[in-house]
Amino acid sequence: MENIYLDYNATTPVDPEVVEAMLPYLKGGFGNASSTHMFGREAKVALEKSREMIASVINCQNEELYFTSGGTESDNLAVLGVADKYRTKKNHIIVGSAEHHAVLEPAEHLHHHLDFELDLLPANIDGLHSADELKNLVTDKTCLVSIMHANNETGVVQDIKALAEAVHSKNALFHTDAVQATGKIKVDVKDFDVDLLSLTAHKIYGPKGIGALYVKAGIRMSPLFFGGSHEKKRRPGTENVAGAVGLAKALEVALRRQNDDYKHHQELSEYFIGKVFATIPDVQLNGSREHRLPHTMNISFRGIEGESILLGLDLEGIAVSSGSACTSGATEPSHVLMAMGVEKLMGQGAIRFSMGRWSTKEQLDYVLKALPKVVNRLREISPVYNK
Ligand SMILES: *Cc1c(COP(=O)(O)O)cnc(C)c1O
Repeated sequence: MENIYLDYNATTPVDPEVVEAMLPYLKGGFGNASSTHMFGREAKVALEKSREMIASVINCQNEELYFTSGGTESDNLAVLGVADKYRTKKNHIIVGSAEHHAVLEPAEHLHHHLDFELDLLPANIDGLHSADELKNLVTDKTCLVSIMHANNETGVVQDIKALAEAVHSKNALFHTDAVQATGKIKVDVKDFDVDLLSLTAHKIYGPKGIGALYVKAGIRMSPLFFGGSHEKKRRPGTENVAGAVGLAKALEVALRRQNDDYKHHQELSEYFIGKVFATIPDVQLNGSREHRLPHTMNISFRGIEGESILLGLDLEGIAVSSGSACTSGATEPSHVLMAMGVEKLMGQGAIRFSMGRWSTKEQLDYVLKALPKVVNRLREISPVYNK
């Protein structure tokens, strides 16, 4: 039996080039970047070179980039850090209804425990948000709006520039979770005109446990952690130097391969979706077909549960996700599909196939053989599916 990984949106293997770049900082160059001696200085140089590389990719100043432990921390720091600074004057925040839990939950925390007003910006059936609708929600009490760039479950890509402009026209700040988009499509904080932006390494062939938050110069933000002067006191804690080197290298490789990877994903995606629709009845692709990262394919199979399909495919050696990896195990349909207004029965039968750099047509052919068998078997015993 083959082992086929189609869950690249949950995490990716580390690119061999990234491993090579990191190794010296796990071996000899292990110094603490805050130490003044030569071991520390060597680590500090590597840390700052990495910062420079990442800053150049997203088009910001080195001073505007803060290392964190990943996407979850960057999102929490953006939402809670900005809210804390502005709360006496502005206690309203808006987040997208289909955000990652790393944005939704801190926003709900502000609402339930810290007297913030919270609005969720609706999405349409394609998973897209309207800039006009957003503009109408922003008031003079709104301190922050957070809308993700590319959705982890559907791959749907928002028009961040238009959304940020709508928010700025009403004098609020704009954060975007660009964890899934960075490295895969153009992410430029100046062009988008965003105030804060989150990214992480392990979704783009870098190591787990390292990410970054861009905070535009002049934006005020409280820290979540206390205990040192690392990252200008905004994120104290001994720097993860090897991780930072890995994140920078992962972005460098992603940039170099961006067009090739994108084309590869697009070809495989067209092929896979076409075949699934041709061989299995009662299926639907969730989210915009046009405004989508092509490697992410969220497909619903009517009348059966996504979790059962996942288990059936797992027995065939195929790794996929039913909705979001973070909510696997729950039988409720994903909040992202519900936010888009996907019919509940379809939402329950959703599977996310997410391909990557090393996915091949042969692997997809193997999946295309196993998938109809799994779906048919489950439909035969389904109490709700009728042909
Ligand atoms: C994975 C992911 C996160 C969380 O990032 P971690 O580095 O795993 O903490 C946040 N947002 C999105 C869109 C993601 O896909």
